[in-house]
Amino acid sequence: MLAGKLALVTGSTSGIGLGIARSLAAQGCGIVLNGFGDADAIESLRAGLAKEFGVRVVFEGGDLTRQADIEALMKRCEGHGGVDVLVNNAGIQHVSPVESFPPERWDAVIALNLTSAFHTTRLALPTMKARNWGRIVNIASAHGLVASVEKSAYVAAKHGIVGLTKVVALETARTGVTCNAICPGWVLTPLVQKQIDARMAERGLSADAARAALLGEKQPSGEFVTPEQLGALAVFLCSPAGDQVRGAAWAMDGGWTAQ
Ligand code: NAD
Repeated sequence: MLAGKLALVTGSTSGIGLGIARSLAAQGCGIVLNGFGDADAIESLRAGLAKEFGVRVVFEGGDLTRQADIEALMKRCEGHGGVDVLVNNAGIQHVSPVESFPPERWDAVIALNLTSAFHTTRLALPTMKARNWGRIVNIASAHGLVASVEKSAYVAAKHGIVGLTKVVALETARTGVTCNAICPGWVLTPLVQKQIDARMAERGLSADAARAALLGEKQPSGEFVTPEQLGALAVFLCSPAGDQVRGAAWAMDGGWTAQ
């Protein structure tokens, strides 16, 4: 379905981004991987994806908290033929009450989880508009719709990206470019594993009990959302059936935000 298209998935060396990259590649889409990690591990990921799905996969690094790195990344993507599908996924978390929240962690969370999507979007849009086709998929969170304690920067950034999504959707409404947000609940990735580890340490819980406690606090299904399920939703948004889904903040959260 996406043969001949190129997708940039930020933060795709791990977790949800990698799951979405795999799902897009399975549709024949070329992939630009991005993110941090060991160079050999990234190269084996890149080569493995290319072989498994028979698509072009390149890796382009960069620290997306830095505007100059984003501009350089987007320029290299132009060299690969330009971005048709932009998945703004790279994100970090920091957990702390607001009065002791380290200002430099606030800046980093906002820079990566919100500002980087502004930069990639503004730089990808001219090519998408010229082709009159494009898909921008912002990986927000249930925390783009509701709040939790001790996550001020994350919740602010995720609410912000839902707002950015709506504005971009309106500005592209008369074009073949769509912009939507996906709002996952808990997904078992390294980002969430850190929060499970913290519960184990603070409360003396086993791994199973800490996972169950984490899910039990927020996610009525009691089950994690998977990167594969999120990848399938991203593929749907990229399909012709998604042409009129514009400015949505689509929850896939086991019922979290239904409460
Ligand atoms: P993860 O930690 O597994 O992956 C994060 C990715 O971002 C990695 O590839 C990492 O290398 C990359 N990254 C980190 N800092 C970067 C930087 N400065 N520049 C470029 N890349 C950087 O996390 P994940 O759980 O897969 O999260 C992916 C996205 O999904 C995030 O935006 C997160 O907020 C969101 N999300 C996650 C969950 C969850 O439960 N895991 C729920 C809702 C939303």
